Amino acid sequence: MASKKSSKVWEYFEKVKDDPKKVKCKLCQQLLSYHTTTINMAYHLKRLHPQFHDDSSGSTSASAAAPRLTQKKIDLRPPLSEKRKKEITEKIAEFVALDMRPVRIVEGE
Ligand SMILES: [Zn+2]
Repeated sequence: MASKKSSKVWEYFEKVKDDPKKVKCKLCQQLLSYHTTTINMAYHLKRLHPQFHDDSSGSTSASAAAPRLTQKKIDLRPPLSEKRKKEITEKIAEFVALDMRPVRIVEGE
């Protein structure tokens, strides 16, 4: 097993002097058992400190990540002026009011 790939987790863990089979998470001071590989530590980081977990191993987890494209789309919309907002609100109120009336009135005229 090549250790260079997962060695980055050592930035967030330190060895426990008294127990060579344990490592301590620098972020939450939790002790983890250390079995020759850093899988445990990577898993701990991913689960408890995802902001520090570097997923550069190539396997991108398709978890519920915040889609950045949505924010860009929102930016493209022109901001509504106060007047326009009021107009829209009134239109909606009108529409709702109409909807509650008998259908005849809408159809008539
Ligand atoms: Zn931790």
